[in-house]
Amino acid sequence: MPPDYRRPPPVKLASHPEPVTVRAPAKLNLHLSVGLLRADGFHDLTTVYQAVSLYDEVTASPAPELSVSVRGEDAPLVPLDDGNLAVRAARALAAAAGVEPLVRLDIVKAIPVAGGLAGGSADAAAALVACDALWGTAMDRAALLDLAADLGSDVPFALTGGTALGTGRGERLAPVLAIGRWHWVLAVAESGLSTPEVYRELDRKRERDVALAPEPLDSLINALRSGEPTSLGHALSNDLQAAALSLRPALRRTLDAGEDLGSTGRVVSGSGPTCAFLASSSDDAVRLAAALSGAGVCRTVRAAYGPVAGARVVTTTAR
Ligand code: ATP
Repeated sequence: MPPDYRRPPPVKLASHPEPVTVRAPAKLNLHLSVGLLRADGFHDLTTVYQAVSLYDEVTASPAPELSVSVRGEDAPLVPLDDGNLAVRAARALAAAAGVEPLVRLDIVKAIPVAGGLAGGSADAAAALVACDALWGTAMDRAALLDLAADLGSDVPFALTGGTALGTGRGERLAPVLAIGRWHWVLAVAESGLSTPEVYRELDRKRERDVALAPEPLDSLINALRSGEPTSLGHALSNDLQAAALSLRPALRRTLDAGEDLGSTGRVVSGSGPTCAFLASSSDDAVRLAAALSGAGVCRTVRAAYGPVAGARVVTTTAR
């Protein structure tokens, strides 16, 4: 089934609004080609995103001023000031809609921080949808996507979810047909990697080394259409992987362990350090997750499937 890009049912503005909870998924990059460094400091990208079933939740509640709290294992790593992407999203929506940003944001983080899984972007997308519902601002989808793109390259995808081709700096999206459900095992590293540092390492490597030809995208697109895990496993690629491995050589052991344990394919997700392993079925994913946990090559292991929807309201008592 093609991904569902329709807007979720609108939530009516309540005269006494109640909290709204939105969940938003992590993303994997199944293909990531990094092009030239642009004048604005971003690189041109061609990427295929897939949203997977590992979610952060953001609850927006009425409040006399803007505040944020974060719960979850990685909570101490998340800023509680205007550096928090959910806070920036709430402020951006309020400014665009001409309302005061009066909201308390409570974030429950399950997506590892600085893991190459775009958890901050998920929180920004969730905050946009939650505040839009809470305040009854009823932004149209295109306006919400524009706000999302200003907040970060991965934020529009966190709104739409599914499987999508991203171009520009990753913010320009087109749906990609992905047949069936894909089963992933994620090996989460002890600590994160800074995305700008990984890009800088890639630039340094390209100055030193002979540039490699970009991986073809066709085989990945065809594999997603075929629904065939072996084909997809062979087609996974990421230009940032070598840079992430230079900065974090221990990731080689993680990738090798996944290969030895029979994963169908493996790739570092985005700027890493999370490694994503493709399994051939849900049972195979459970087996692989258990085996990887026992191998002692990462902090924690998560099984997830994709594609899943983007940021969606999960609870609201607003009437
Ligand atoms: P990127 O999306 O930049 O590729 P990533 O997916 O590797 O990064 P994120 O979990 O999004 O990693 O976090 C990147 C940085 O963003 C963190 O180190 C953190 O300081 C900052 N940040 C701001 N807001 C949030 C948030 N709500 N959740 C997580 N990190 C946040």
